[in-house]
Amino acid sequence: MGDEHHTLHIFVFPFLAHGHLIPTIDMAKLFAEKYVKVTIITTPLNAPFFFKAIEKTKICSNRIHIQAIEFPCQEAGLPGGCENLDSVPSFDFFPSFFKATRLLQVPFEQLLIEQRPNCVVADIFFSWVTDSAAKFGIPRIVFSGVSFFSSCALECMRLYKSFENVSSDSEPFLIPGLPGEIKLTRAQLPPHLKNEETPFAKIINEAREAEKRSYGVLINSFYELEKDYADYYRKELGRKAWHIGPLSLCNRDIGEKALRGKEASFDGHECLKWLDTKEPNSVVYVCFGSTTNFPDSQLTEIAKGLEASEQQFIWVVRKSEKDGKDSEEWLPEGFERKMEGKGLIIRGWAPQVLILEHEAVGAFVTHCGWNSTLEAICAGVSLVTWPVAAEQFYNEKLLTEVLGIGVPVGAKKWGMFEGDSIKWDAVEKAVKRIMIGEEANEMRNKVKLLSQLARRAVEEGGSSDSDLNAFIEELRSMSH
Ligand code: UDP
Repeated sequence: MGDEHHTLHIFVFPFLAHGHLIPTIDMAKLFAEKYVKVTIITTPLNAPFFFKAIEKTKICSNRIHIQAIEFPCQEAGLPGGCENLDSVPSFDFFPSFFKATRLLQVPFEQLLIEQRPNCVVADIFFSWVTDSAAKFGIPRIVFSGVSFFSSCALECMRLYKSFENVSSDSEPFLIPGLPGEIKLTRAQLPPHLKNEETPFAKIINEAREAEKRSYGVLINSFYELEKDYADYYRKELGRKAWHIGPLSLCNRDIGEKALRGKEASFDGHECLKWLDTKEPNSVVYVCFGSTTNFPDSQLTEIAKGLEASEQQFIWVVRKSEKDGKDSEEWLPEGFERKMEGKGLIIRGWAPQVLILEHEAVGAFVTHCGWNSTLEAICAGVSLVTWPVAAEQFYNEKLLTEVLGIGVPVGAKKWGMFEGDSIKWDAVEKAVKRIMIGEEANEMRNKVKLLSQLARRAVEEGGSSDSDLNAFIEELRSMSH
């Protein structure tokens, strides 16, 4: 292929949260590598993340463009500067945040008129993009950012509503239709699934309806990881989908890997140097993504649990700046002194992919966000699963019951941002189980194998690379 194929132009429009922006940058790089012109549509305060990441990339950065449109905070009733989900003050502001994203429709359509891309890849939450693109005869592709497994689980739940047939929130119910006899409880489901009258339920339902009417879906996953569910999604649920992941694998050098999302609050090199002094598989990495915000009482339990586990650790604590540096009463007295050399606390943002890929890291305590999950699989690191919200309880099932590479900490209750409360002894037990003994070795071997399969999937001719080529070829044939 040569630069003569330059003419294919894709608009990529990510949702305004780090868990969505990060894989979008990766996806843009992949498209650019295939000689596609990419324009990322975002807002002024989110644009710098893209500029920085693209600047660092060796991959065809001249084919990636960034177009910012104003985010109407004031009109939607949001505090000024609230352009990313991680700056929304509380869940009560969610409807306003979504209202603001809806108000982007007019300037977005103006861009469609001006630039006439061949295709729009927009986040699942931007349901209105399907109609906007249709107005101009442009195919709209959904980027859902989640696995085949959770997309299938969610759809089966919406179709069959088997959670209505149990008598309590803690009684397990089977997800009918879904391969693998997967059971959940009502307490693990988000409120919007159980009560369709909530404003958030309306947003989710619109998103799902728009997904059905869109041209197809791009999935950040690879076929070998979840074959049964990839087949179910396409054959039983009838969706047109291309799997093109794991997207994070397109970051090949340290600079690119270090600059994913925000700038690390801790010198990445220092952190890696610290890991260099440790034995292989001897450190547990603890991080709960970009939006989970545990209360202080939960942080105290984590600290106690890590100490009791007697394992070495890197623990990322996402304390927002407004909490102030001095209010650290959640740390047991003298904790950091006692843990010196054994445990490292990173306050803020960690270079996660670099940490996971270090051979000293033997396990990952995670909230099961899909990006984190895939990053651990790519690095061959087994997991302690601690789902909090979104679709994380489904991911836990995939990791623990289907793939056998994770140990659940025992979270029983879905809760936006904060989640269930888990005691220190449950943390201790799960961390020991994933780090020490025969079962721990077996899980590690399994995930190492998956890591190899993941890398093969994105190599030339691998399953994800082939699907990406098929996707681009289909767009090219439509644009003639
Ligand atoms: N991440 C990171 N450093 C941090 C916290 C998160 O690099 O300190 C990245 C992580 O590697 C992943 C993303 O942020 O790519 C989080 O996405 P995920 O889907 O796991 O969770 P979410 O933030 O959407 O809940």
